[in-house]
Amino acid sequence: MQLTTDISVYQCENHGEDMGLSLRIDIDNPFGYATFFRKVLNKVSLDFNLIPRWSSLGYLDNAKALRDYLAGNGVPATWFFRNETTPGRRDISTFSRAPFDLALHAERTDTFENFAAEVRKWTRAMGARPTGFSKHGSGDRKLSRKHVMEYDAEAFIGFGNRAGFEYFSGNGTEYNQGFQNRGGLVYIPSVFWLDNPTLHTPGTTLDSVVEFSRENAVVVLVHPIWWGTQLEVRAQLESLIRKTELQGMREQVRHFRETSASP
Ligand SMILES: [Zn+2]
Repeated sequence: MQLTTDISVYQCENHGEDMGLSLRIDIDNPFGYATFFRKVLNKVSLDFNLIPRWSSLGYLDNAKALRDYLAGNGVPATWFFRNETTPGRRDISTFSRAPFDLALHAERTDTFENFAAEVRKWTRAMGARPTGFSKHGSGDRKLSRKHVMEYDAEAFIGFGNRAGFEYFSGNGTEYNQGFQNRGGLVYIPSVFWLDNPTLHTPGTTLDSVVEFSRENAVVVLVHPIWWGTQLEVRAQLESLIRKTELQGMREQVRHFRETSASP
């Protein structure tokens, strides 16, 4: 399979709104759930950050397998790392070099100060400032000791603007809602949940998402743990890659911002 990352496939001159489809990957769990031992590592790591980030323990193994698969197919993707799931020093470049890009998966979002502290910590660990972020959890349950459960998109848009972000990718399920320019910050209210399709209106298929993306911008969300453990999710991603030419999310965002006016 040959896949190009050339963004000229937008054909901007001919189809101003032809925005395509990009891949957002949220890295929630560093160790996965394959064995009881892994579950314990996961919990201790996420709640207390006490486990070394060693590959020999299986740290990020699902994410690394997904990375190798996407890199092998030249598929662009943006990796949203939590501070608790950032790669070890030696692995950062393998997740950030083209066609990949890094972003923040934010947790402590109750106040701007806590959000800004997360951004600082992430920047120190990764060696670069994030330009985009998403939120860990959609407001339905507390996911770890330090996790802030509330999901308030308007507050996050404000935080993002104040901290100089380019975009915020939200957790809504109406994938066809489009992008919004909110004072310079690009707000993407919804995504297509590739590994949780029951969140969508019955009858929503991958084909309908691909079809919609021919004239509109769409973000598709995948979690490495479900890709790594569920054949169905793997098949869906493979099918998506076969059916469409994915764009880098940052390019997609920048293209949208250039062609839209801030209200
Ligand atoms: Zn998450």
